[in-house]
Amino acid sequence: MTKFPVGPDAFDSFGLPRFPPGEVWLAGAGPGDPGLLTLHAVNALGQADVILYDALVHAAVLRLARPEVTLEFAGKRGGRPSPEQRDITERLIELARQGHRVLRLKGGDPFVFGRGGEETLGLALAGISFRVIPGLTAGLAGLTYANIPATTRDTNHGVILITGQYAAGQERVLEWGALARTRLPIILYMGMGRLAEITRSLIAGGVAPGLPVAVVHNATTPDQRVLVSDVGHVAEAAAEQGLGSPAIVAIGEMVRLREALLPFAITLSDGSPGVPPGSHQPVAPD
Ligand code: SAH
Repeated sequence: MTKFPVGPDAFDSFGLPRFPPGEVWLAGAGPGDPGLLTLHAVNALGQADVILYDALVHAAVLRLARPEVTLEFAGKRGGRPSPEQRDITERLIELARQGHRVLRLKGGDPFVFGRGGEETLGLALAGISFRVIPGLTAGLAGLTYANIPATTRDTNHGVILITGQYAAGQERVLEWGALARTRLPIILYMGMGRLAEITRSLIAGGVAPGLPVAVVHNATTPDQRVLVSDVGHVAEAAAEQGLGSPAIVAIGEMVRLREALLPFAITLSDGSPGVPPGSHQPVAPD
């Protein structure tokens, strides 16, 4: 097993950047399994003075930070009110102006349904230098961990990544029917709250009720659970099994491949993620 962090020589040869005081770095921490962190994210964690982290960032990841680091929770917890987006951006600006190395650590990729766009825009307007470090997004890495290829040449030549959360009144604008007519698979983020409504709209838009659907809950963590159903039944089945957020919902023919791959695929319960027991839980905020 590689000792981690890797030896300083190897690390140096990658030319990973130094974190200057007064900068803000936004890094994606991936969907959960610490093994999916990028070396850039590890490099940032090892230098930051202050880390503002989201609910979907896992405890084991924060252990890569320096012992003197200040950790600030800045995410949603179970649907309860989160710090306002504006407040988070203002806090980043304030900390940077105080001369700290500020790491904003987000689940998945900061620019995929992660509000990284809003935060970097706020920083740019305030004249604060920033860097964005991509992360593996849950919609793609989560499917892979569930043994579902996002694309195969036999089934689909693209995918739609979309959020199930939208403001009341925007339903008509979103037009699930129009998405259904593309016949491309849908990979739904934040979709559990409205799964019944969304699947009904898809069927009304022409999607076959028998089209396969997978719900991947807590993807890439030891608590990963996968439910395979179809568009007509998935909302009820997920409710019956108590599968809520965070979950990725994949809708499309490619879901069928999972069954064929599964007998030989090494699963998480075989110990692949290497996460110490108990440390996979999202960090409990104070
Ligand atoms: N920036 C993140 C997405 C944030 S939106 C990314 O790129 O992955 C939050 C949504 O992401 C959740 O509602 C859920 O749909 C999805 N998500 C994030 N982590 C997940 C995980 N470990 N398992 C399943 N879904 C996850």
